[in-house]
Amino acid sequence: MSHKAGPHFLQIPGPSNVPGRILRAIERPTIDHRGPTFQVLACEVLEKIKPIFKTVEPVVIFPSSGTGAWEAALVNTLSPGDKVLMYETGQFANLWVELATRIGLETEVISGDWRFGVDSNVIEERLRNDAGHKIKAVCIVHNETSTGVTSKIKPVRDAIDKAKHPALFMVDTISGLCSADYRHDEWGVDVTISGSQKGLMLPPGLGFNAVSKKAVEASKSSKLIRSYWDWGSQLANNPSGNFPYTPATNLLYGLVEACDMLMDEGLDNVFSRHERHAEAARRAVKAWGLEIQCAEPTEYSPVLTGVIMPEGHDADALRAIILDKFNMSLGSGLGKIKGKVFRIGHLGDFNDLMLMGTLSGVEMGLTVAGVPHKSGGVQAAMEFLTGNA
Ligand SMILES: *Cc1c(COP(=O)(O)O)cnc(C)c1O
Repeated sequence: MSHKAGPHFLQIPGPSNVPGRILRAIERPTIDHRGPTFQVLACEVLEKIKPIFKTVEPVVIFPSSGTGAWEAALVNTLSPGDKVLMYETGQFANLWVELATRIGLETEVISGDWRFGVDSNVIEERLRNDAGHKIKAVCIVHNETSTGVTSKIKPVRDAIDKAKHPALFMVDTISGLCSADYRHDEWGVDVTISGSQKGLMLPPGLGFNAVSKKAVEASKSSKLIRSYWDWGSQLANNPSGNFPYTPATNLLYGLVEACDMLMDEGLDNVFSRHERHAEAARRAVKAWGLEIQCAEPTEYSPVLTGVIMPEGHDADALRAIILDKFNMSLGSGLGKIKGKVFRIGHLGDFNDLMLMGTLSGVEMGLTVAGVPHKSGGVQAAMEFLTGNA
């Protein structure tokens, strides 16, 4: 394959672009993970990750993908045959259901049409009808990366409380963390699940569980089999700066750098930067005359925008042309919306000109691929970004 000049545009909604500062941190020589230098690093990173989740409770860090952190959340807190209430917001929610079923849990799924987020009223009603408290956990996805819909978390906590139900509350914010506001403690989440390769701007390879006291208490009597994912050995080792097995040492160097960068910019500024880019992207999509997958404006994702293709046109053919001609990767439609939707990622280490390059690539791609659309999407985004909308 011939050399392509200039940077590749990695505009899938995770993994996101890794900034040079983080790459340089990771590049340092690997050190002895049982030695004193590492223990200082570990203590630093285990403290610095807490404000990212807005928690004072422990955050367990696994050398894993996000999927591993999903599994860890369930196997540490539940017992074989326990019932969990899950909510189908899209493909990632479905994959979590599949995982839960495979490890021996009974899943009850509230179905959805992939264009809206979690309806807390439905959860409240379901919990009120569960007088015998058979449901042991409520599991939802914060930012559904397959659709670009962000669910509101606090109303779900309120629903559980209003139903006076003791179920644990688990939230996947693998793609939401560091892009959309997230508050583990204030929102009363028992286990928050995340990963390194999205808003945290790191390469793939770290999985996170932020754990409440109630979740840790549940882990002491839960019966699902676990070994690698056991919180107990992590929580016993972490205070002295140790891990029960070899951690992803170099990614932890990167994680310290990522936390410093996020705190330096200020989390609120990070969130408003994402909101602003998402709004500009949506204005472009609307100007093209295309439809956004998220049908509820108060649930528009700051992380990505899912775009519905006009009838009779294939999203993957468009993506292939954009990759070939403009060296840009866009997200594919997943699961039942494969070929029907493409996804523009605007998360992580991202600025106005990267967004304009991305939207230009999409608009040029629509033209080259012969997809019917109106011109002027890029213009609409520029007008919004410059305050002339
Ligand atoms: C990326 C993602 C996952 C899966 O994470 P992996 O690291 O691919 O295992 C799960 N849930 C959501 C919402 C995601 O965005």
